[in-house]
Amino acid sequence: MEKILNIENLGKIYTSAGRSLTVLDKVNLSVEAGSTVSIVGPSGSGKTTLLGLCAGLDRSTTGLVELNNIRIDQLGEDQRALVRNKYVGFIFQNFQLLPTLTAVENVMVPLELRGEKNIRPKALDLLDKVGLADRSHHYPSQLSGGEQQRVSLARAFSNSPRILFADEPTGNLDAETSEKVVKLIFDLNREAGTTLVLVTHDMELASKTQRIIRIKGGVIIADDLTKS
Ligand code: ADP
Repeated sequence: MEKILNIENLGKIYTSAGRSLTVLDKVNLSVEAGSTVSIVGPSGSGKTTLLGLCAGLDRSTTGLVELNNIRIDQLGEDQRALVRNKYVGFIFQNFQLLPTLTAVENVMVPLELRGEKNIRPKALDLLDKVGLADRSHHYPSQLSGGEQQRVSLARAFSNSPRILFADEPTGNLDAETSEKVVKLIFDLNREAGTTLVLVTHDMELASKTQRIIRIKGGVIIADDLTKS
C-alpha cells in the first residue's frame, strides 16, 4: 500500500523565555493513502503540534516528515506552503477564516494562490456542496459556528487534497451541526479517496475512523485498528 504520510523519530522542542519544553519525542508513524485515522489523547499531549508538523504548518526540531513522498521537514515556509497548496487540506477548530473576506472570497484564496482561472464560480460551487450557496456573500462574523466550519471545509476541499488534516473539527459545534460536518469529511474520503487524519476528543467520531492513535506526553502509547 502507498504511504501518504511517513514520519520517523519526530521530535519537537518549544523554546520560550530561555526554557525548553519537549512536546514530541521520537514519534514514528505512517499512514496509508485513502485511510482514515484519528489521534486522541489528553489536553497538552502534543496532538495539535503533531498534526501541524505532519501538515507542514510548522517545522520539527528533529526527525523526518514525508508527505506524498516529499520530504518536507527540511523545507522552508515558502516551499512547505507550495506542498500544502498542492496536496493538503487543513481544518482548524476555530475555523481560521479571514474576517475581512466574505465566505466565497475565503474559499477563493487557495484557488487564487494556485493560479487557477474562473475561481469565483468554482468557489461558489464548493460552497454549494457544503450547503452554503445562499451564504456566499456573508462575512464570517455574520455566520454561525457551523456555517463558518462548513466554509472552512469548502476552502479545505478546494485543492482536492490528497490528505485532509482536521484539528477538533467538531469541537465547537452542536450535535446536529457536527453530524453534517462529519458527513462531509467522510464523503470526501469515500468519494475522492482523500486520506483523513483527525484530532478529536470525541470517541464516537474517532470510532468512525479505521485506526485510533493514542498519544500521551508527546509519545504514541497505542495504535489500534477499529471495526470501521
Ligand atoms: P494538544 O493538542 O494535545 O492539546 P498541543 O500540541 O497543543 O497539545 O500542546 C502540547 C504542549 O506544547 C502544551 O504544553 C502546550 O502548552 C505547548 N505548546 C504548544 N504550542 C506551543 C508554542 N508555540 N510555544 C510553546 N509551547 C507550546
